[in-house]
Amino acid sequence: MNVPQHTIRITLGLVTLTLGLLMLGQFAGLLPDQRLSELKARQQFCETLAVQVSILPIDSSLKVVDALVRSLVARYPEVLSAGLRRNSGDLLLETAEHSRLWTEGTVMSPERVTVPIYSNSGRWGALEVSFTPLPGTGLGGVLSNPFVRLLGFMALAGAILYYLLIRRALKHLDPSAVIPARVRAALDVLAEGVVLADDEENIVLSNRSFATKLDTTPAEMLGKTLRSLPWLNPTPEAGALHYAWHATLKEGRVMTGVPMYLDTNTHGTRTLMVNSAPIADEAGRVCGTIVTFDDVTQLEEKNAELEGMLRMLKDSQDKIHRQNKELQSLAVKDSLTGCLNRRGLFESLNAAFDRAQRNSGKLSCVMCDIDHFKDINDTYGHAVGDKVIGMVADVLRTGARETDVIARYGGEEFCLMLPDLSLQQGSELAERLRRALAARDTDGIKVTASFGVSSMEIEPADADSLLKQADAALYRAKRSGRNRVVNHTFPTDHSPEERDAG
Ligand code: GH3
Ligand code: MG
Ligand code: MG
Repeated sequence: MNVPQHTIRITLGLVTLTLGLLMLGQFAGLLPDQRLSELKARQQFCETLAVQVSILPIDSSLKVVDALVRSLVARYPEVLSAGLRRNSGDLLLETAEHSRLWTEGTVMSPERVTVPIYSNSGRWGALEVSFTPLPGTGLGGVLSNPFVRLLGFMALAGAILYYLLIRRALKHLDPSAVIPARVRAALDVLAEGVVLADDEENIVLSNRSFATKLDTTPAEMLGKTLRSLPWLNPTPEAGALHYAWHATLKEGRVMTGVPMYLDTNTHGTRTLMVNSAPIADEAGRVCGTIVTFDDVTQLEEKNAELEGMLRMLKDSQDKIHRQNKELQSLAVKDSLTGCLNRRGLFESLNAAFDRAQRNSGKLSCVMCDIDHFKDINDTYGHAVGDKVIGMVADVLRTGARETDVIARYGGEEFCLMLPDLSLQQGSELAERLRRALAARDTDGIKVTASFGVSSMEIEPADADSLLKQADAALYRAKRSGRNRVVNHTFPTDHSPEERDAG
């Protein structure tokens, strides 16, 4: 049976109170002192006996007196013995054992009572009666004390009766009892925790879902305060706990989605989304709150998992993006020189051509080919030839502008696209490059190159034509002696100008 703790507490309180009151009454003398009344009764008994004996002429009716005394001793079990003693000290008559039980000179006590007997001539002697001892102070004495027995009875009977009474009374006083069983059953079906609390946070109703989280029953939740439940700070740095329902009870505010953390024994730390709304009385005063607890622990765990997966996905996406970029750049770059390769050149050529058409209308193209390169290969080997090609690329890069496009067009042939430069300006740049190259060497090996320049001023139909025109000019540079810059001429000009740059 499930015994509600608060019922037991109230029962124990009432039993203690009752026993306390009885002891207080005893202390105040409201209850008769058993020992005193017993003593009085014994004295009374002896007085009566003495009067009866006094009435008779003792010396002549000794037998009658003896029979009277004996019958009284036999009748009352607490009377152990009796004796009749003259003033002289002689024991005139006695019941069994009186001499042994009675020691002369014994003072009056609850066990020894002496009553004087008078005759016509004055005091004749005394009646001595010895009684059984009164309840003592030892454990046996205490237990046989009627007051102690009364206390024991009250403790036992009170505990049972109070418990039954309180349980019955609490059923009527249970605030949640006003809620119909059907509504309660409906609340218990909810997966969400629902709690009704009064204005001092005392729980007056909890549904099963919330009680189960704390490994208890809705009945056990009654009387606890919402604040006293094992709430947790998510982190030690989070500071004081914020109870969602405080604002509701103090200011009547409806609170929604306040995260709180409950430390449960068997379900670990639960993350709850708390909503609270005020309950108002007829006067509109907030007299309680209804609080709901939505357990989002699993959702949070899944969210954390999902976030982790998204992070991993993003990382791998970034990695793929980087690798794609690397691949892209590898696809358009020449590995030996780091310049654009042929493919890269054609990709940027049309864009540069269109941009020039839209903007300044100026764009020059320079084709460059190393002179007698075959001899370098033949004399120093292919590896040295590669080094020379790299050196030429370096010269072109150093001499060109940031905005210029430099591509390795073929084996030892380069193409430069020079935005915003006229034929004249492009030709001058080519000339500077030719000179710079002539001034450099690779491991003491010196090379020269020939340059052909074309420009949009000559109005090529497209980017491809522009390139072809530069190539034609290069061809002419080779033919006219190498190590020089030759400009492409206007189509109307039938005697192309060849310029020796050296
Ligand atoms: P010209 O002055 O007429 O240009 O004479 P040339 O010897 O340079 O003649 P051509 O341009 O026809 O020769 C190009 C040579 O470049 C042919 C080939 O063996 C060599 N070559 C092409 N690509 C590479 C390369 O990547 N590395 C090396 N070392 N040599 C290359
Ligand atoms: Mg060549
Ligand atoms: Mg060559």
